[in-house]
Amino acid sequence: MRIGAHVDSTDPLAEAAARSADTVQFFLSDPQGWKAPKPREDAERLRAAEVDLYVHAPYVINVATLNNRIRIPSRKLLLGHATAAAAIGAKGLIVHGGHVNAGDDLAVGFDNWRKTFAYAADSGGFGVPVLIENTAGGDNACARRLDALARLWDAIGDHEVGFCLDTCHAYAGGEELLGLVDRVKAITGRIDLVHANNSKGAFNSGQDRHDNLGGGTIDPELVVAVIRAAGAPVVVETPGGVAGQAADIDFLREQLGAESPAA
Ligand SMILES: [Zn+2]
Repeated sequence: MRIGAHVDSTDPLAEAAARSADTVQFFLSDPQGWKAPKPREDAERLRAAEVDLYVHAPYVINVATLNNRIRIPSRKLLLGHATAAAAIGAKGLIVHGGHVNAGDDLAVGFDNWRKTFAYAADSGGFGVPVLIENTAGGDNACARRLDALARLWDAIGDHEVGFCLDTCHAYAGGEELLGLVDRVKAITGRIDLVHANNSKGAFNSGQDRHDNLGGGTIDPELVVAVIRAAGAPVVVETPGGVAGQAADIDFLREQLGAESPAA
């Protein structure tokens, strides 16, 4: 059972060691910006590391939108991140499901996702597993609730596409955690990564506000049950820096009977 955290990108391996994590996730560029990631000088060290690496794509990416001025650069930025993630030996690139604007047809959003995978295939493929993550908010989201997720997978399921399940986003997005893994797997067939977060926002609040596992509005045992059912690696995206995240990782290892990596 691999368990880790979302960390600062400057020295991810040092961040992993500070938390006794065997998995880390980080950004390769400003998550709020449109700049393509630069090649990393530590690429060789990262590729050789025992620590499993995941890259989170910038939040600005929205490949579903009908707005050309967002969608086209989003595709490019996603592909650029996939190439950069492959260069460091990442296990996956996580990207949010995206949304269409109010009044726009969600069906077009799903088709835009299909075109994104077709575009990538034409460009030689992503080169790294792309894991689409469920999101917490909005009325026109592609991956907030499972009815939308099912339509998304109808559009892209023939491509090699993975899924990242965020417990905060699911709960705040209005999906009960009890039995959720089975309902998701019935659609996607797989869960590649769990983002284990508690939620400051209430059930179905639509708020994307992560909390430490022992805080927040979700019974932590439900988060543990999701992880157990998913059988996938875990990344906490929780506050509190090294101490806060190390406590969350320790809690999960204890609950799941997982071992710490050898020091
Ligand atoms: Zn997440």
